[in-house]
Amino acid sequence: MSKIQMKTPLVEMDGDEMTRIIWQLIKDELIHPFVDLKSEYYDLGLERRDSTNDQITVDSANATKKYGVAVKCATITPNAQRMTEYKLKEMWRSPNGTIRAILDGTVFRAPIIVKGVESLVPGWTKPLTIARHAYGDMYRNVEAVVPTGAKAELVITDKDGKETRRLIHEFSDTDGVIQGIHNTDKSIKSFARSCFKFALDTKQGLTFATKDTISKTYDHRFKDIFEDIYNKEYRSKFEAAGIEYFYTLIDDAAARVVRNNGGYIWACKNYDGDVMSDLVASAFGSLGMMTSVLVSPDGAYEYEAAHGTVTRHYYNHLKGQETSTNSVATIFAWTGALNKRGELDSIHELSEFAKRLEKATISTIEDGVMTGDLFAISTLENKRKVNTQEFIKEIAKRL
Ligand code: NAP
Ligand code: MG
Repeated sequence: MSKIQMKTPLVEMDGDEMTRIIWQLIKDELIHPFVDLKSEYYDLGLERRDSTNDQITVDSANATKKYGVAVKCATITPNAQRMTEYKLKEMWRSPNGTIRAILDGTVFRAPIIVKGVESLVPGWTKPLTIARHAYGDMYRNVEAVVPTGAKAELVITDKDGKETRRLIHEFSDTDGVIQGIHNTDKSIKSFARSCFKFALDTKQGLTFATKDTISKTYDHRFKDIFEDIYNKEYRSKFEAAGIEYFYTLIDDAAARVVRNNGGYIWACKNYDGDVMSDLVASAFGSLGMMTSVLVSPDGAYEYEAAHGTVTRHYYNHLKGQETSTNSVATIFAWTGALNKRGELDSIHELSEFAKRLEKATISTIEDGVMTGDLFAISTLENKRKVNTQEFIKEIAKRL
């Protein structure tokens, strides 16, 4: 059999620890035998980030802008302990944060559903995708404690130096707290476009929710920007694709989500997305089954697993112990990227291969062959726990 040929290279971002081991296994066992892989390789492993003063991360993000599709391995975000462990020059920023800032993108997280691993919300039979706006609000806040007797005001100084003041609160008989938050039209527009684009791409409906009845200026701005962009740029495309854009209040969106079957995208403001993405991930079982894709408003895609480098398993691996780490989300990062590359370059066999690899992965688990995390929760009777390497070899057999 001749290997599938590619046109444009895939931006490949390698990473750290257990996921770096899985990365190589996936390429060797599941991709190289079938695809003549054309990739532009960036090693985002912590040593390389340190030796390049993190330039490698910036370069990989710019390459994603240039080529349009990237696949990323999980990476360590250094903390004090990692500084000593890796003798780092600096506590480098989160690569995901750096890449997201350069691409101005939105992260979409969705679970991979298999038979035998039921959601804790029984109705959720289709994947529910959470899109989180990753800029501003409480995450860029300014806060202060206000003592009794003081008053707090909102002051806006325009470019000519003219001040507008609004009273926040007079703290006449008690101490208290205040918080200043912001967002920008530019960021909200990018968020909206990424959401509409991804909904069209995946042919799923889009729900957006805020608390505009209470926050009549701030949250209402989000609502208006979404509505405006939808009407001007996406309404006819949505109608043609037979999908719906639905705006509602955040509490209504939360009440609806437990009553329906999933299968749509829920666009969340920053804080709502922080909470909802963890809630949805835990309801669907294992972190090893959660995919993540960063979509920029101009249509660049970076696919990855939602989990981290699985450090605890890696340390066991270093001690020579057997591991049973779930590679499904990382495999789906590869299939997501290969499928998208195939779509953009009109290479049907490449997209078809990606779908077959997904199918082989799911049927491995549905045949009862799975890693420890799923073994612990699967309801299948004939289930068997395999190690990290065996699991990938079992997929290769079916592929
Ligand atoms: P983690 O790597 O996601 O792992 C946390 C725990 O979740 C694991 O110990 C394991 O539980 C379970 N788990 C996660 N993925 C799994 C998989 N594929 N198969 C089986 N079990 C899985 O999070 P962490 O330990 O908090 O972080 C480790 C490193 O990853 C940190 O340095 C952090 O900076 C980095 N990180 C990177 C990203 C990213 O690149 N996107 C995201 C998050 C964290 P058990 O131990 O119970 O088996
Ligand atoms: Mg969170």
